[in-house]
Amino acid sequence: MPWTENVASTMAQRLKPWVISLLAKLGGRAEEMRLKAYIVGGFVRDLLLGRENEDLDVVIEGDAIEFIKSWEQDGCRVAIHKKFKTGTIVFPDGKKVDVATARREFYEYPVAQPSVSSDSLKHDLYRRDYTVNAMAISINCSTWGTLVDYFGGRQDLKKKLLRVLHNLSFVEDPTRVIRGIRLEQRLEFTIEENTFRLLVNCIKGGLVSLLSGVRLRSELELIFKEDAPYKIVKRCTQIGLWRSLFPGLNPGRDTIKIMRRISFFKRRLSGDLPSMAGADWLPYLSALVSESHRDGMLSVLDRLHVSDKERAIVIESIDGMGSAEHILGGRGEKPNSRIYEFLSKVHPAIALYWAAATNRWRVRRRILLYLTRLRKIEPMLIGRDILDLGYREGPMIGYILKGLRNARLDGLVETREEEIEWVLKNFPKMDRK
Ligand code: ATP
Repeated sequence: MPWTENVASTMAQRLKPWVISLLAKLGGRAEEMRLKAYIVGGFVRDLLLGRENEDLDVVIEGDAIEFIKSWEQDGCRVAIHKKFKTGTIVFPDGKKVDVATARREFYEYPVAQPSVSSDSLKHDLYRRDYTVNAMAISINCSTWGTLVDYFGGRQDLKKKLLRVLHNLSFVEDPTRVIRGIRLEQRLEFTIEENTFRLLVNCIKGGLVSLLSGVRLRSELELIFKEDAPYKIVKRCTQIGLWRSLFPGLNPGRDTIKIMRRISFFKRRLSGDLPSMAGADWLPYLSALVSESHRDGMLSVLDRLHVSDKERAIVIESIDGMGSAEHILGGRGEKPNSRIYEFLSKVHPAIALYWAAATNRWRVRRRILLYLTRLRKIEPMLIGRDILDLGYREGPMIGYILKGLRNARLDGLVETREEEIEWVLKNFPKMDRK
């Protein structure tokens, strides 16, 4: 029998009202359909730790496909993966829930079980990575809030321990090594002794290095989405993970320093920084390879199967650093238009890397000024207004607007009237109709 405990009051205290009402709605429907529904995984872990988590993973004992489909009548969008008996429900307000069928990998039992949980749930939870991630909470109305803990996750959570469920866990899936280090650093947990031994053996035995480039890439992206990737990178160095994954990679103190700065800028300037459109992880990747020899860097990029565009961003980040410091450095006044001119030609992920990697504070200040303010500056006049002033249609209009933006960047114009005056003064009558 699993350890059970009712955590309904913790849910009531810690969850946002919309989360509770959504879970109750899902549980109500499950009850009507005579199914058992549980919220599982990281959500449960974080609830018990008092950490926010809005990733809703629901497991159904019974047929999840029928359950998922039933939400179509409520105006939800649903996506179904028949083969894996999983799917996603997107509610009309955009809230999303992933739903899976509890996998019964060993035996098929009759669905009806007398207790809250049954073997299918147990087997589903047994496939998971760490005990603290292998707990479930019933969301059916009749058993709302019952915590199901077969493997001592609650106890491990209290002791801040990460423990695998069985000794072959890392052999089954070596990504759990990287997930473990990520969680250890994020939650400030300790990897339990036996688990740590298995983890190190998995690295030493070369199993982690067998992971495909695609999986490695996605694990790296997850590391770089954390609040403090530098801690994870440091820990990976300490236990020899980088050496095993990428023999030419050599992240040292500079890498850590650059990564700390990138995270700092992201945290402090989050709303002001430009969208990186899927390239968010690249400043970190550039930092990771920044201390390696060229061959080492290129072999990391090859191994991760980065796209040509991503490759170009990383290489330009590393190779362009010298000229960025040359152009953006210097004691004298640097016109904003000059900073704009240079940085608007590079991807913002490159500029962010340079801001973090340079040790010259003027260079850093100018790049951050560009990223947070200058890049958004546009003239008040638009093309139509220039035509209305009597200029001919054609490339000249773009040229005038560019000049006008530079004038605005350098503080030469502020109001619309000043912009008009500036145009008429700087582009004489011959350019007009
Ligand atoms: P995060 O907070 O980083 O999202 P999470 O624990 O919610 O962490 P997900 O990647 O969303 O992680 O996975 C959801 C759940 O699926 C995990 O809590 C864990 O139970 C299980 N899981 C994910 N990856 C693995 C894996 N490689 N092996 C076993 N179980 C896994």
